[in-house]
Amino acid sequence: MDNTRSHDIAWLPGDGIGPEVTREALRVLDAVGSAHGFSVTATEHRIGGAALDETGRPFPTSTREACLESDAVLLGAVGGPKWNDNTGDKRPESGLLALRRALGVYANLRPVRVPEARTGASPLRPDRVGGTDILFVRELTGGIYFGTPEGRTDDGARSTMVYSEAEIERIAHVAFQRAQRRDGHVTSVDKANVLEVSELWREVVPRIREEHYPDLELRHLYVDNAAMQVVRDPRQFDVVLTGNLFGDILSDLAAALPGSLGLLPSASVGGTVGLFEPVHGSAPDIAGQDVANPTAAILSAALLLDAVGETAAADAIRHGVDAALDAGLRTADLAASDEETVSTSTFGREVATHAADPAPKNAPTP
Ligand code: NAD
Repeated sequence: MDNTRSHDIAWLPGDGIGPEVTREALRVLDAVGSAHGFSVTATEHRIGGAALDETGRPFPTSTREACLESDAVLLGAVGGPKWNDNTGDKRPESGLLALRRALGVYANLRPVRVPEARTGASPLRPDRVGGTDILFVRELTGGIYFGTPEGRTDDGARSTMVYSEAEIERIAHVAFQRAQRRDGHVTSVDKANVLEVSELWREVVPRIREEHYPDLELRHLYVDNAAMQVVRDPRQFDVVLTGNLFGDILSDLAAALPGSLGLLPSASVGGTVGLFEPVHGSAPDIAGQDVANPTAAILSAALLLDAVGETAAADAIRHGVDAALDAGLRTADLAASDEETVSTSTFGREVATHAADPAPKNAPTP
């Protein structure tokens, strides 16, 4: 097929299993590109420990420039025992924070799905968790992680939670727009019974709904109740909208639902260039063995395609993952003790084959 559309991707494999899992994501991107009439050009750049080893810095200028010039950034993971004693801006993870800052991505999207047929690895009972399909929309560049004043004082320490109306408005728009493409229901999570910042959050979010999205449903939950509800009845949620701190904790809590970190993708958007990466880290305990689950990286590639407008190909990837799992393929993290396991690359190849099938059936909604 003649490829008329092309997408330039900055590929940042990073450390540990990052290179292995993102290689499979690129394989799948190539396959769906051929089937859907576009090409993906991935250019490799260093970040994290790999960049420290090569340049002495975890986020070299050359990587920064390449990311800002790209259409999207696909990242593996950073960090590992080799750099554990590093401090400050010599830590691999500081490269990741610098990357997010450079891209200006303020909205972190984390879908968590547990299809009825794949509840086996979940710590929750199948009848509670089967059918879960939540999208967490977490504000990423504001809140208590970035507020001032902060730091140690003579007799203690302080951190400050700050949100402007404009910051709340723009993340609320992201959540409502995502809900329009899903079941139309947003749960806004805050701590308005205690925090002034949350009081403002509770004023701004309903106003945005009334002014722009009157057809969508909105409800509010306090964060402590939301945490309980995620475990008690995760199927009640569609889109969860929340700030930086609460989103960090709640989305990690929900990450346990499918049963493996290897299944969870993420997208960070809102700046000029989006960042797409698995939720998991560099998993040094299994790195280099071709046993990691590449699903999170592959589904991150699907989110990347959504963001560059290739939504049919993105759905095809999700179909490919479902088809491979439904066919019984299991990487070690998902296999029961009596089940055979497949390697990272075998799983990736299988997804690529299914995803390139031009007529996917029952493709899930993003
Ligand atoms: P981790 O996510 O790397 O691993 C936690 C556990 O989950 C490990 O047992 C690992 O084997 C398993 N796991 C993770 N991804 C998997 C996959 N795709 N398939 C199968 N199993 C998988 O978290 P950690 O062990 O706390 O951290 C390891 C390193 O990664 C640290 O240096 C940490 O700072 C870094 N880290 C980086 C990121 C990131 O780059 N975004 C995120 C979290 C942790």
